[in-house]
Amino acid sequence: MSEINRSLIILRPKQPFLDWACSLDDDSNDLTIENLNEDSTAYLIPEIWEDDGKPKLHYAVQLALYTDILERLGRSHGRTPFVWDIHGSEVPYDLMEMRGKRNPRRLWDDYQDYLAQARNIVKGVFKTLPAYSTGVCKNCVWYTSCLKNLEAANDLTLIPELGRSKRDARFDRIASIRELAAINQADFIDEGKTVFSGIGPVTLAKMQERAKLLTEHDGKPYLTVSKRLGSR
Ligand code: SF4
Repeated sequence: MSEINRSLIILRPKQPFLDWACSLDDDSNDLTIENLNEDSTAYLIPEIWEDDGKPKLHYAVQLALYTDILERLGRSHGRTPFVWDIHGSEVPYDLMEMRGKRNPRRLWDDYQDYLAQARNIVKGVFKTLPAYSTGVCKNCVWYTSCLKNLEAANDLTLIPELGRSKRDARFDRIASIRELAAINQADFIDEGKTVFSGIGPVTLAKMQERAKLLTEHDGKPYLTVSKRLGSR
């Protein structure tokens, strides 16, 4: 059975939206809330809740951002935003609630950290690099542009299963797919271990084979163990 791991957001306009729509032109004066809700817009988005019912961090950061904007506009009722669930019930999220005993933090603290990072990116203090992720990038509005940059940079994350964390933290001595394809593995192995933390010789060999396949003009997939295909 196939399963789709996505959350669904349905936009349901309320009175302020109707007032705004009616102010645009005279033709909209006959509109009602019921008309607007007859054909609501729905969006599939990544999962937003953990199994324990708490919002996933990336979603909490979005909620905190909207709350912060409303706060700065003087329109916020506090740091407990809510969303409507599929049954139309309000589900509140307390962004100021302490969580964890060893490292007590609030979702608002996480938001502040990400906000500081975002400001530093805008100021040019941090430079960000795209990293290909099969599950995430194809749903992203930047996909076409990022893919072009990744291909131009011959980025290591285009190798299957070699994502951002491996590229940034482990394969820090190898800059591109072509470079990985050309290395002499022995130069990176000492006493049975590779110089890359968390990457064993078998994984290094596998990643290098993939790099070669992507680099060779006529690279083709192949079986690593012999398989007898059954006949019908
Ligand atoms: S397409 Fe680019 S911006 Fe979007 S998730 Fe992938 S790397 Fe990030």
